[in-house]
Amino acid sequence: MIGTIYKCEICGEESENPVRWIVIQCSDTQLTVHKWTREAAAAPGARHYCGEAHAQVYIGRWFQTHCS
Ligand SMILES: [Zn+2]
Repeated sequence: MIGTIYKCEICGEESENPVRWIVIQCSDTQLTVHKWTREAAAAPGARHYCGEAHAQVYIGRWFQTHCS
């Protein structure tokens, strides 16, 4: 996985070695927030965010989409 570039889904920031980024894995019924680990980040369907604020943006959208 060396050389993988991760991109924040909200602001588009890119990093090859993210620090304190957030990983979110979710389905229609469940959303899981992970501290950044290579394993979590590389999981199928994982979403990547440059920090808590942008993870919260996505969580807010998820609630609006799936809990209405
Ligand atoms: Zn961001």
